[in-house]
Amino acid sequence: MNMPKIPMSAPDLDERDYKEVLEVLKSGRLALGPKAEEFEKLMAEYAGVKHAIAVSSGTAGLHILVKALGIEEGDEVLVPSFTFCASVNVILYEKAKPVFVDIEPETYNLDPEDLERKITKKTKAIMVVDVFGHPAEWDEILQIAEKYNLKIIDDSCEALGAEYKSKKLGQFGDGACFAFYPNKQITTGEGGIIVTNNDDIAKIARSLRNQGRGEMGAWLYHERLGYNYRMDEMSAALGVSQLKKIESFLQKREKVANMYTEKLKKYPWVKTPVVKPYVRMSWFVYVITLEEGLDRDKVIEEMEKRGIPARGYFSPIHLQPYIREMFGTKEGMLPVTESISKCTLALPFHNNLKEEEIDEVVRVLREVVEGNLLKL
Ligand SMILES: *Cc1c(COP(=O)(O)O)cnc(C)c1O
Repeated sequence: MNMPKIPMSAPDLDERDYKEVLEVLKSGRLALGPKAEEFEKLMAEYAGVKHAIAVSSGTAGLHILVKALGIEEGDEVLVPSFTFCASVNVILYEKAKPVFVDIEPETYNLDPEDLERKITKKTKAIMVVDVFGHPAEWDEILQIAEKYNLKIIDDSCEALGAEYKSKKLGQFGDGACFAFYPNKQITTGEGGIIVTNNDDIAKIARSLRNQGRGEMGAWLYHERLGYNYRMDEMSAALGVSQLKKIESFLQKREKVANMYTEKLKKYPWVKTPVVKPYVRMSWFVYVITLEEGLDRDKVIEEMEKRGIPARGYFSPIHLQPYIREMFGTKEGMLPVTESISKCTLALPFHNNLKEEEIDEVVRVLREVVEGNLLKL
């Protein structure tokens, strides 16, 4: 397969990253070693939390948080539909019921009003998602959670380094999770990390990721049903090396996002991303919203014909075949989510996207939207 000239996303790797991973390989200690511990220590410091627990993926981390909070069959968990499937799947793994909440039309994060409306006697927790790296409306969400005594998991898998009112994400809710797939802000290949200030959650999480072993227990002593959700040492070494560069990564991403916005904001058929004045956005993807009436899927098709990749982002989870089958969810249930998800478009985005490449993406987008190609 030919790689497109401008990729949708790309990890930012250098000689230091290669060297760190190679050193682990040469050491012969490939699992359960010092690198994962170092990564956890660095991450806890960075996020400003007491505990960090490295795991094999963001999904694994979220699943562990669901279990650690005691969410089980019969419980309802409030969750956006405008998210990646993992936010919902981890609820299903424990046979709890996802209750889909609509989003607000500016940042596409959970709408606090709809959130409160959907609380029932069975509601146990809220799965908050900081969509595209923009923090959710935390003040309102925390207030609601307190009022109704609900647990909170922060799916911050798209938002490492983001801040809400000068406080880093990872500190909100009972526990949060970051993810390190190669399109995220930093990568470990596959990987994730749980962060929490709660000693009990941290202890259970460490046990769950390691086959249910006790902290000091013997290798073949299992206190509970656990998983192999451990992060290996090569991944952790890459994580350490990448995390050391996080601030420059976030700045590079912001620069690329700002260039896109500068070049796009003058066109009436596109809405550029909204960043609230009281947050620090950690740019995960650059998502524009096309004017209603434009055929977004056709725009993607025509852009790809011209060698520029683009993606519809997100496709609502309540409309996925497996969820429809399980819960009978359908069109019309979440008006804002449904109308916005038909118009959103992720453009190529990574740390080192050059201005000429951004110009090329914008040129092709204009050609497709303005050149009447959509009516052919
Ligand atoms: C990336 C991501 C995850 C975790 O994905 P993994 O591939 O399991 O690391 C979870 N939730 C959201 C919203 C994500 O974007």
